Amino acid sequence: MSEHPHIIVGGGIIGLSIGWELLRNGAERVEIYEAGEAVRSGATWVAAGMLAPRAEANFEEVGIYHAGVASLNAYPDFLAHLGEDADNVPRLDTCGSLMIATNVDDKRELDRQFEFRKRIGCPAERLDGSAAREREPLLGPRVTSALWLDGDAQINNRTLALALKQAFVKCGGILHEHTRVQSVIRNGESVTGIQVGDEVIPAASVIIATGADVQIGGIDPLPVRPVKGQMIGLRAEPFAMLKQPILATKAYLVPKDDTRLLIGTSAEEVGFDKRVTAGPILNILHRAWEMVPAIYELEIEEIITGFRPTPRDHKPIVGRGTANNLYYATGHYRHGILHAPLAARLISQLILSDRWDRSYDEFLPSRFFTKAVEVAA
Ligand SMILES: Cc1cc2nc3c(=O)[nH]c(=O)nc-3n(C[C@H](O)[C@H](O)[C@H](O)COP(=O)(O)OP(=O)(O)OC[C@H]3O[C@@H](n4cnc5c(N)ncnc54)[C@H](O)[C@@H]3O)c2cc1C
Repeated sequence: MSEHPHIIVGGGIIGLSIGWELLRNGAERVEIYEAGEAVRSGATWVAAGMLAPRAEANFEEVGIYHAGVASLNAYPDFLAHLGEDADNVPRLDTCGSLMIATNVDDKRELDRQFEFRKRIGCPAERLDGSAAREREPLLGPRVTSALWLDGDAQINNRTLALALKQAFVKCGGILHEHTRVQSVIRNGESVTGIQVGDEVIPAASVIIATGADVQIGGIDPLPVRPVKGQMIGLRAEPFAMLKQPILATKAYLVPKDDTRLLIGTSAEEVGFDKRVTAGPILNILHRAWEMVPAIYELEIEEIITGFRPTPRDHKPIVGRGTANNLYYATGHYRHGILHAPLAARLISQLILSDRWDRSYDEFLPSRFFTKAVEVAA
Protein backbone atom coordinates (compact mmCIF):
# COMPACT_ATOMS: atom_id res chain seq x y z
CA MET A 1 0.00 0.00 0.00
CA SER A 2 1.33 3.45 -0.96
CA GLU A 3 2.19 5.87 1.84
CA HIS A 4 0.99 8.71 -0.39
CA PRO A 5 -2.54 10.14 -0.29
CA HIS A 6 -5.33 9.63 -2.77
CA ILE A 7 -5.61 13.11 -4.26
CA ILE A 8 -8.92 14.50 -5.46
CA VAL A 9 -8.82 17.57 -7.70
CA GLY A 10 -11.98 19.65 -7.12
CA GLY A 11 -13.99 20.33 -3.97
CA GLY A 12 -17.54 20.42 -5.35
CA ILE A 13 -20.22 17.92 -4.38
CA ILE A 14 -18.64 15.16 -6.47
CA GLY A 15 -15.09 15.53 -5.07
CA LEU A 16 -16.34 15.87 -1.49
CA SER A 17 -18.68 12.87 -1.77
CA ILE A 18 -15.88 10.69 -3.12
CA GLY A 19 -13.41 11.92 -0.50
CA TRP A 20 -15.77 11.22 2.37
CA GLU A 21 -16.83 7.83 0.95
CA LEU A 22 -13.18 6.77 0.56
CA LEU A 23 -12.41 7.66 4.18
CA ARG A 24 -15.59 6.03 5.47
CA ASN A 25 -14.61 2.84 3.70
CA GLY A 26 -11.10 2.58 5.05
CA ALA A 27 -8.81 4.79 2.94
CA GLU A 28 -6.11 6.14 5.23
CA ARG A 29 -5.07 9.32 3.47
CA VAL A 30 -7.27 11.43 1.24
CA GLU A 31 -6.58 15.03 0.24
CA ILE A 32 -8.68 17.42 -1.83
CA TYR A 33 -7.16 20.30 -3.80
CA GLU A 34 -9.66 23.04 -4.61
CA ALA A 35 -8.85 26.07 -6.78
CA GLY A 36 -11.28 28.35 -4.93
CA GLU A 37 -13.42 27.70 -1.86
CA ALA A 38 -14.76 24.16 -1.56
CA VAL A 39 -18.54 23.89 -2.07
CA ARG A 40 -18.96 27.53 -3.12
CA SER A 41 -16.78 27.87 -6.22
CA GLY A 42 -18.50 25.63 -8.74
CA ALA A 43 -21.89 24.50 -10.00
CA THR A 44 -22.70 22.82 -6.69
CA TRP A 45 -23.55 26.14 -5.01
CA VAL A 46 -25.68 27.34 -7.92
CA ALA A 47 -27.77 24.18 -8.45
CA ALA A 48 -31.46 23.93 -7.67
CA GLY A 49 -31.09 20.67 -5.74
CA MET A 50 -33.76 18.77 -7.64
CA LEU A 51 -33.36 15.02 -7.30
CA ALA A 52 -35.74 14.46 -10.14
CA PRO A 53 -34.75 11.61 -12.46
CA ARG A 54 -38.39 11.16 -13.50
CA ALA A 55 -39.03 14.78 -14.44
CA GLU A 56 -35.58 15.18 -16.03
CA ALA A 57 -35.72 11.94 -18.04
CA ASN A 58 -34.79 12.85 -21.57
CA PHE A 59 -35.21 11.20 -24.96
CA GLU A 60 -32.13 9.06 -25.79
CA GLU A 61 -30.89 9.27 -22.19
CA VAL A 62 -32.38 6.13 -20.68
CA GLY A 63 -29.12 5.09 -18.99
CA ILE A 64 -28.95 8.45 -17.20
CA TYR A 65 -32.55 8.00 -16.05
CA HIS A 66 -31.85 4.55 -14.55
CA ALA A 67 -28.65 5.80 -12.91
CA GLY A 68 -30.57 8.75 -11.48
CA VAL A 69 -33.21 6.49 -9.96
CA ALA A 70 -30.47 4.26 -8.47
CA SER A 71 -28.69 7.28 -7.01
CA LEU A 72 -31.91 8.71 -5.58
CA ASN A 73 -32.63 5.31 -3.99
CA ALA A 74 -29.17 5.48 -2.39
CA TYR A 75 -29.87 8.92 -0.86
CA PRO A 76 -31.57 7.81 2.39
CA ASP A 77 -28.56 5.65 3.44
CA PHE A 78 -26.11 8.28 2.19
CA LEU A 79 -27.75 10.91 4.42
CA ALA A 80 -28.07 8.54 7.38
CA HIS A 81 -24.31 7.85 7.26
CA LEU A 82 -23.59 11.52 6.76
CA GLY A 83 -25.52 12.21 9.96
CA GLU A 84 -22.82 10.24 11.83
CA ASP A 85 -20.09 12.59 10.60
CA ALA A 86 -21.76 16.01 10.20
CA ASP A 87 -23.94 18.24 12.40
CA ASN A 88 -26.38 19.74 9.93
CA VAL A 89 -27.59 17.23 7.37
CA PRO A 90 -30.42 18.32 5.08
CA ARG A 91 -33.72 16.48 4.86
CA LEU A 92 -34.58 14.49 1.75
CA ASP A 93 -37.84 16.11 0.62
CA THR A 94 -39.78 13.37 -1.21
CA CYS A 95 -42.21 15.92 -2.61
CA GLY A 96 -42.53 14.62 -6.20
CA SER A 97 -42.43 17.04 -9.11
CA LEU A 98 -44.84 18.61 -11.58
CA MET A 99 -44.13 19.20 -15.26
CA ILE A 100 -46.58 21.67 -16.72
CA ALA A 101 -47.78 23.17 -20.01
CA THR A 102 -49.06 26.71 -20.47
CA ASN A 103 -49.63 26.69 -24.25
CA VAL A 104 -50.39 24.36 -27.14
CA ASP A 105 -46.74 23.69 -28.02
CA ASP A 106 -45.92 22.83 -24.42
CA LYS A 107 -48.94 20.54 -24.27
CA ARG A 108 -47.77 18.67 -27.38
CA GLU A 109 -44.30 18.32 -25.86
CA LEU A 110 -45.79 17.08 -22.58
CA ASP A 111 -47.77 14.42 -24.48
CA ARG A 112 -44.56 13.16 -26.08
CA GLN A 113 -42.80 13.21 -22.73
CA PHE A 114 -45.63 11.16 -21.24
CA GLU A 115 -45.43 8.54 -24.04
CA PHE A 116 -41.66 8.38 -23.65
CA ARG A 117 -41.99 7.76 -19.91
CA LYS A 118 -44.52 5.00 -20.52
CA ARG A 119 -42.07 3.32 -22.91
CA ILE A 120 -39.19 3.31 -20.43
CA GLY A 121 -41.33 2.28 -17.44
CA CYS A 122 -41.13 5.64 -15.68
CA PRO A 123 -44.27 6.21 -13.61
CA ALA A 124 -46.03 9.47 -14.56
CA GLU A 125 -49.61 10.62 -14.12
CA ARG A 126 -51.30 12.94 -16.61
CA LEU A 127 -53.36 15.79 -15.10
CA ASP A 128 -55.56 18.44 -16.67
CA GLY A 129 -55.28 22.09 -15.61
CA SER A 130 -57.72 21.91 -12.71
CA ALA A 131 -56.26 18.66 -11.34
CA ALA A 132 -52.83 20.30 -11.52
CA ARG A 133 -54.13 23.35 -9.61
CA GLU A 134 -55.65 21.04 -6.99
CA ARG A 135 -52.19 19.57 -6.44
CA GLU A 136 -50.53 23.00 -6.53
CA PRO A 137 -52.98 25.84 -5.84
CA LEU A 138 -50.41 28.52 -6.79
CA LEU A 139 -50.43 27.50 -10.45
CA GLY A 140 -51.88 30.21 -12.66
CA PRO A 141 -54.87 29.95 -15.03
CA ARG A 142 -52.63 29.47 -18.09
CA VAL A 143 -51.64 25.98 -16.94
CA THR A 144 -53.65 23.64 -19.12
CA SER A 145 -52.10 20.26 -18.41
CA ALA A 146 -49.41 18.61 -16.34
CA LEU A 147 -47.50 15.44 -15.53
CA TRP A 148 -47.19 14.40 -11.91
CA LEU A 149 -43.98 12.53 -11.11
CA ASP A 150 -44.40 10.83 -7.79
CA GLY A 151 -41.15 9.60 -6.28
CA ASP A 152 -39.01 12.55 -7.38
CA ALA A 153 -37.41 14.46 -4.54
CA GLN A 154 -35.29 17.49 -3.75
CA ILE A 155 -32.73 18.59 -1.19
CA ASN A 156 -30.96 21.71 -0.01
CA ASN A 157 -27.78 21.18 -2.03
CA ARG A 158 -25.90 23.96 -0.23
CA THR A 159 -26.50 22.44 3.21
CA LEU A 160 -25.65 19.02 1.81
CA ALA A 161 -22.32 20.10 0.33
CA LEU A 162 -21.36 21.95 3.53
CA ALA A 163 -22.19 18.78 5.52
CA LEU A 164 -20.00 16.72 3.18
CA LYS A 165 -17.16 19.18 3.67
CA GLN A 166 -17.45 18.91 7.44
CA ALA A 167 -17.71 15.10 7.28
CA PHE A 168 -14.67 14.84 5.00
CA VAL A 169 -12.51 16.82 7.42
CA LYS A 170 -13.93 15.09 10.50
CA CYS A 171 -13.03 11.69 9.01
CA GLY A 172 -9.40 12.80 8.62
CA GLY A 173 -9.44 14.25 5.10
CA ILE A 174 -7.17 17.19 4.32
CA LEU A 175 -8.65 20.03 2.27
CA HIS A 176 -6.37 22.48 0.47
CA GLU A 177 -8.48 25.46 -0.65
CA HIS A 178 -7.38 28.25 -3.00
CA THR A 179 -4.88 25.80 -4.50
CA ARG A 180 -5.19 25.16 -8.22
CA VAL A 181 -3.73 21.97 -9.66
CA GLN A 182 -1.85 22.68 -12.88
CA SER A 183 -1.18 19.16 -14.01
CA VAL A 184 -1.10 15.50 -13.19
CA ILE A 185 2.32 13.84 -13.36
CA ARG A 186 2.42 10.60 -15.34
CA ASN A 187 5.05 7.91 -15.50
CA GLY A 188 4.21 5.27 -18.09
CA GLU A 189 0.99 3.47 -17.13
CA SER A 190 0.70 5.25 -13.76
CA VAL A 191 0.29 8.71 -12.33
CA THR A 192 2.72 9.63 -9.57
CA GLY A 193 1.40 12.96 -8.33
CA ILE A 194 0.18 16.44 -9.12
CA GLN A 195 1.84 19.75 -9.81
CA VAL A 196 0.77 22.79 -7.79
CA GLY A 197 2.79 25.92 -8.62
CA ASP A 198 6.45 24.79 -8.54
CA GLU A 199 5.73 21.92 -6.21
CA VAL A 200 5.23 18.28 -7.16
CA ILE A 201 3.04 16.42 -4.67
CA PRO A 202 3.19 12.62 -4.74
CA ALA A 203 -0.09 10.69 -4.89
CA ALA A 204 -1.24 7.08 -4.61
CA SER A 205 -3.99 7.91 -7.08
CA VAL A 206 -5.53 11.02 -8.63
CA ILE A 207 -9.24 11.61 -9.07
CA ILE A 208 -10.35 14.39 -11.42
CA ALA A 209 -13.54 15.96 -10.07
CA THR A 210 -13.18 19.47 -11.45
CA GLY A 211 -16.68 19.86 -12.86
CA ALA A 212 -16.81 21.88 -16.07
CA ASP A 213 -13.15 22.92 -15.92
CA VAL A 214 -11.07 20.05 -17.29
CA GLN A 215 -8.10 22.17 -18.43
CA ILE A 216 -5.46 20.26 -16.47
CA GLY A 217 -2.15 19.11 -17.92
CA GLY A 218 -1.28 15.41 -18.03
CA ILE A 219 -4.85 14.07 -18.19
CA ASP A 220 -6.64 12.52 -21.12
CA PRO A 221 -8.45 15.19 -23.16
CA LEU A 222 -12.13 15.10 -22.23
CA PRO A 223 -14.94 16.51 -24.40
CA VAL A 224 -16.49 18.46 -21.52
CA ARG A 225 -17.70 22.03 -21.96
CA PRO A 226 -19.37 24.54 -19.63
CA VAL A 227 -23.07 25.20 -20.24
CA LYS A 228 -23.98 28.34 -18.33
CA GLY A 229 -27.10 28.56 -16.22
CA GLN A 230 -28.41 31.73 -14.56
CA MET A 231 -30.41 31.22 -11.39
CA ILE A 232 -32.60 33.67 -9.48
CA GLY A 233 -33.20 33.30 -5.76
CA LEU A 234 -36.42 34.97 -4.57
CA ARG A 235 -37.31 35.32 -0.93
CA ALA A 236 -40.37 33.13 -0.58
CA GLU A 237 -43.25 34.52 1.47
CA PRO A 238 -45.95 32.35 3.05
CA PHE A 239 -48.42 33.32 0.28
CA ALA A 240 -46.06 31.93 -2.35
CA MET A 241 -44.93 28.61 -0.86
CA LEU A 242 -44.92 25.91 -3.51
CA LYS A 243 -45.30 22.30 -2.45
CA GLN A 244 -42.84 20.85 -4.98
CA PRO A 245 -40.66 21.81 -7.95
CA ILE A 246 -42.59 22.96 -11.02
CA LEU A 247 -40.91 22.41 -14.37
CA ALA A 248 -41.79 23.67 -17.83
CA THR A 249 -39.84 24.14 -21.03
CA LYS A 250 -37.20 26.85 -20.44
CA ALA A 251 -37.98 27.53 -16.76
CA TYR A 252 -38.58 25.93 -13.38
CA LEU A 253 -39.43 26.96 -9.83
CA VAL A 254 -37.99 25.12 -6.83
CA PRO A 255 -38.99 25.98 -3.24
CA LYS A 256 -36.14 25.52 -0.75
CA ASP A 257 -36.29 25.02 3.01
CA ASP A 258 -34.27 28.19 3.71
CA THR A 259 -36.88 30.73 2.51
CA ARG A 260 -35.53 30.81 -1.07
CA LEU A 261 -37.70 30.15 -4.07
CA LEU A 262 -35.32 29.36 -6.92
CA ILE A 263 -36.22 30.32 -10.44
CA GLY A 264 -34.11 28.77 -13.18
CA THR A 265 -32.59 28.64 -15.64
CA SER A 266 -30.85 29.33 -18.91
CA ALA A 267 -28.65 26.97 -20.95
CA GLU A 268 -26.05 29.16 -22.64
CA GLU A 269 -23.07 28.23 -24.82
CA VAL A 270 -20.86 31.19 -23.84
CA GLY A 271 -17.83 29.46 -22.29
CA PHE A 272 -16.90 30.53 -18.76
CA ASP A 273 -18.63 33.94 -18.96
CA LYS A 274 -19.90 34.47 -15.42
CA ARG A 275 -21.83 37.68 -16.03
CA VAL A 276 -25.50 37.96 -15.11
CA THR A 277 -27.28 39.21 -18.25
CA ALA A 278 -30.67 40.79 -18.76
CA GLY A 279 -32.12 38.67 -21.60
CA PRO A 280 -32.04 35.24 -19.97
CA ILE A 281 -33.20 36.70 -16.64
CA LEU A 282 -36.13 38.40 -18.36
CA ASN A 283 -37.12 35.15 -20.13
CA ILE A 284 -36.82 33.00 -17.04
CA LEU A 285 -38.82 35.38 -14.85
CA HIS A 286 -41.50 35.80 -17.49
CA ARG A 287 -41.92 32.04 -17.93
CA ALA A 288 -41.98 31.50 -14.17
CA TRP A 289 -44.57 34.28 -13.71
CA GLU A 290 -46.81 32.65 -16.33
CA MET A 291 -46.73 29.46 -14.29
CA VAL A 292 -46.98 30.99 -10.82
CA PRO A 293 -48.24 34.62 -10.91
CA ALA A 294 -47.69 35.06 -7.15
CA ILE A 295 -43.93 35.44 -7.69
CA TYR A 296 -44.56 39.01 -8.96
CA GLU A 297 -44.53 40.31 -5.38
CA LEU A 298 -41.38 38.55 -4.19
CA GLU A 299 -38.05 40.15 -3.38
CA ILE A 300 -35.02 39.11 -5.44
CA GLU A 301 -32.33 37.93 -3.02
CA GLU A 302 -29.66 36.82 -5.44
CA ILE A 303 -28.91 36.10 -9.06
CA ILE A 304 -26.02 33.76 -9.73
CA THR A 305 -24.49 31.86 -12.58
CA GLY A 306 -22.91 28.43 -12.80
CA PHE A 307 -21.52 26.05 -15.38
CA ARG A 308 -22.91 22.59 -15.95
CA PRO A 309 -20.09 20.15 -16.71
CA THR A 310 -21.37 18.95 -20.07
CA PRO A 311 -19.87 16.03 -22.01
CA ARG A 312 -20.49 15.64 -25.71
CA ASP A 313 -23.01 12.84 -25.09
CA HIS A 314 -24.43 14.31 -21.83
CA LYS A 315 -23.48 11.18 -19.87
CA PRO A 316 -21.38 11.36 -16.70
CA ILE A 317 -17.71 10.46 -17.09
CA VAL A 318 -16.96 8.11 -14.22
CA GLY A 319 -14.26 5.48 -13.94
CA ARG A 320 -10.60 4.83 -14.69
CA GLY A 321 -8.63 6.76 -17.30
CA THR A 322 -5.64 5.72 -19.38
CA ALA A 323 -3.39 5.30 -16.34
CA ASN A 324 -4.14 2.57 -13.82
CA ASN A 325 -4.45 4.98 -10.88
CA LEU A 326 -6.07 7.96 -12.61
CA TYR A 327 -9.84 8.29 -12.18
CA TYR A 328 -12.51 10.64 -13.47
CA ALA A 329 -15.76 11.76 -11.89
CA THR A 330 -16.96 14.65 -13.94
CA GLY A 331 -19.41 15.52 -16.70
CA HIS A 332 -22.45 15.29 -14.48
CA TYR A 333 -24.20 17.98 -16.49
CA ARG A 334 -27.67 18.75 -14.98
CA HIS A 335 -27.57 15.84 -12.56
CA GLY A 336 -24.52 16.17 -10.32
CA ILE A 337 -26.42 16.68 -7.07
CA LEU A 338 -28.62 13.69 -7.89
CA HIS A 339 -25.71 11.49 -8.96
CA ALA A 340 -23.33 12.26 -6.07
CA PRO A 341 -24.05 9.10 -3.99
CA LEU A 342 -23.66 6.90 -7.07
CA ALA A 343 -20.42 8.53 -8.24
CA ALA A 344 -19.00 8.26 -4.72
CA ARG A 345 -19.81 4.54 -4.54
CA LEU A 346 -18.51 3.72 -8.03
CA ILE A 347 -15.18 5.51 -7.62
CA SER A 348 -14.48 4.39 -4.06
CA GLN A 349 -15.19 0.72 -4.93
CA LEU A 350 -12.90 0.99 -7.92
CA ILE A 351 -10.07 2.50 -5.89
CA LEU A 352 -10.41 0.44 -2.72
CA SER A 353 -11.31 -2.97 -4.14
CA ASP A 354 -10.85 -2.76 -7.90
CA ARG A 355 -14.56 -3.49 -8.36
CA TRP A 356 -16.69 -1.92 -11.06
CA ASP A 357 -20.45 -2.20 -11.51
CA ARG A 358 -20.86 -3.15 -15.18
CA SER A 359 -24.34 -1.59 -15.33
CA TYR A 360 -22.52 1.75 -15.64
CA ASP A 361 -20.14 0.84 -18.46
CA GLU A 362 -21.67 3.52 -20.66
CA PHE A 363 -20.25 6.16 -18.27
CA LEU A 364 -16.65 4.91 -18.54
CA PRO A 365 -14.15 7.54 -19.71
CA SER A 366 -12.75 4.96 -22.15
CA ARG A 367 -15.59 5.76 -24.56
CA PHE A 368 -13.62 8.88 -25.47
CA PHE A 369 -10.13 7.34 -25.62
CA THR A 370 -8.50 5.06 -28.13
CA LYS A 371 -6.20 3.57 -25.51
CA ALA A 372 -7.84 2.70 -22.19
CA VAL A 373 -6.84 0.51 -19.28
CA GLU A 374 -9.42 -2.27 -18.92
CA VAL A 375 -11.37 -2.05 -15.65
CA ALA A 376 -11.80 -5.13 -13.52
CA ALA A 377 -15.11 -6.83 -14.33
C1 LIG B 1 -28.12 26.54 -12.87
C2 LIG B 1 -27.85 25.10 -12.51
C3 LIG B 1 -28.85 24.33 -11.92
C4 LIG B 1 -28.62 22.99 -11.59
N1 LIG B 1 -29.60 22.27 -10.95
C5 LIG B 1 -29.36 20.97 -10.62
C6 LIG B 1 -30.35 20.22 -9.94
O1 LIG B 1 -31.43 20.71 -9.65
N2 LIG B 1 -30.08 18.91 -9.64
C7 LIG B 1 -28.87 18.32 -9.96
O2 LIG B 1 -28.69 17.13 -9.67
N3 LIG B 1 -27.89 19.04 -10.58
C8 LIG B 1 -28.11 20.33 -10.92
N4 LIG B 1 -27.16 21.05 -11.57
C9 LIG B 1 -25.91 20.38 -11.96
C10 LIG B 1 -24.95 20.28 -10.78
O3 LIG B 1 -24.84 21.54 -10.17
C11 LIG B 1 -23.57 19.81 -11.26
O4 LIG B 1 -23.70 18.65 -12.08
C12 LIG B 1 -22.71 19.46 -10.05
O5 LIG B 1 -22.68 20.53 -9.14
C13 LIG B 1 -21.31 19.11 -10.48
O6 LIG B 1 -20.55 18.96 -9.32
P1 LIG B 1 -18.97 18.88 -9.39
O7 LIG B 1 -18.46 18.65 -8.03
O8 LIG B 1 -18.61 17.92 -10.49
O9 LIG B 1 -18.54 20.31 -9.98
P2 LIG B 1 -18.44 21.73 -9.25
O10 LIG B 1 -19.46 21.93 -8.23
O11 LIG B 1 -18.36 22.72 -10.36
O12 LIG B 1 -17.05 21.64 -8.50
C14 LIG B 1 -15.82 21.52 -9.21
C15 LIG B 1 -14.76 22.21 -8.37
O13 LIG B 1 -13.48 21.94 -8.96
C16 LIG B 1 -12.68 23.10 -8.77
N5 LIG B 1 -11.59 23.07 -9.75
C17 LIG B 1 -11.71 23.19 -11.10
N6 LIG B 1 -10.49 23.10 -11.67
C18 LIG B 1 -9.59 22.90 -10.66
C19 LIG B 1 -8.17 22.73 -10.61
N7 LIG B 1 -7.42 22.72 -11.72
N8 LIG B 1 -7.59 22.56 -9.39
C20 LIG B 1 -8.35 22.54 -8.26
N9 LIG B 1 -9.70 22.70 -8.26
C21 LIG B 1 -10.31 22.87 -9.44
C22 LIG B 1 -13.65 24.26 -8.96
O14 LIG B 1 -13.16 25.42 -8.32
C23 LIG B 1 -14.92 23.71 -8.32
O15 LIG B 1 -15.05 24.11 -6.97
C24 LIG B 1 -27.35 22.40 -11.88
C25 LIG B 1 -26.33 23.19 -12.44
C26 LIG B 1 -26.58 24.52 -12.75
C27 LIG B 1 -25.45 25.35 -13.33
